[in-house]
Amino acid sequence: MNSLLNPNFSHLYIERGAKDFPDSNRIITKFKQSKIIEVDDYKHVFNRRRQTFQFQKRSMKLILAVKKDNFIYDGSRFAPSFGHPNFYYNALILNCIYNCDYCYLQGMYPSGNIVLFVNSVPYFQAVEDVIETKGSVYLCLSYDTDLLAFENLIPNCRRWIEWSESHATALLEIRTKSTNFSAIADLKVNPNIILAWTLSPEAIIIRYEGKTPSLTARLSSVNEAIEAGWSVRICIDPILNVNRWQDLYSQLIKKIADTIDIGKVKDFSLGVFRMNHEYLDNIRKMRQDSDILYFPFEHHNGSVSYSHDLKSRMTHFVKNLILYYSPESIVNLHG
Ligand code: SF4
Repeated sequence: MNSLLNPNFSHLYIERGAKDFPDSNRIITKFKQSKIIEVDDYKHVFNRRRQTFQFQKRSMKLILAVKKDNFIYDGSRFAPSFGHPNFYYNALILNCIYNCDYCYLQGMYPSGNIVLFVNSVPYFQAVEDVIETKGSVYLCLSYDTDLLAFENLIPNCRRWIEWSESHATALLEIRTKSTNFSAIADLKVNPNIILAWTLSPEAIIIRYEGKTPSLTARLSSVNEAIEAGWSVRICIDPILNVNRWQDLYSQLIKKIADTIDIGKVKDFSLGVFRMNHEYLDNIRKMRQDSDILYFPFEHHNGSVSYSHDLKSRMTHFVKNLILYYSPESIVNLHG
């Protein structure tokens, strides 16, 4: 299990309506030391006013809940659809065990605590309804969270991979920074599953991707997945405009090429920092401790990012590095 999930949720909130679900019982058994507090509705805890996201991240509480509606959402314009017409995502978990400085969740959610939804059945039904009306679906499963990092607590990735066995027109992406491939390594390889790892230069991981595994450890998981035959996407997103970014991203791509069989990567996905401007405003009110949030961004259609020129220079620089090591690779640019 990821060590961050071993200890210590000091408090475990549970909706009364979530108590009888098997996942709830299993999780409660895992955290015998936690103080259990029953609530009528998770929103009474999660949506409380005057919470401090970063303060709560230091000692996250776990909330077990039943999702009542919105089991599937249209794909966000901030996320790439890779050309798939029927692009959706869902929210099986709210919030993440990691704490990246650039994470939009800080500006989107009122709380840094983690909500696990324990009723998986209606999520599957919602996707099956889309397939029935549209014929196919491209679904991002690990959207407002890092699903694989939670796999030992609630096996969502396993369940969706198994479900996809009998739903051939569903293409699922599971995006992660975790090293928890071992939790699903026993499953049959399925070409309709894309395991997508987000990688960053080690210096950026250390400085801006709080509590995430090192680059070396992530690459080791990537390597295991590729060698087992899984479709692996590598996401270098967000590319950050930091000092000597050219050197850092050159070292990153070299390390990827030195460590894994880069020709076996299904595709690469590149994008620079971008965010809904309201979320960035919310984050700036809470924290002045991260320089990457204070770049003089340009505003465009409700989002903030680098200038068009800088964006283009950064993504093409990284793309050319990838193509230098692996000329046949598919490299998608976003944002
Ligand atoms: S891993 Fe993703 S979801 Fe988790 S904190 Fe970092 S950016 Fe946010």
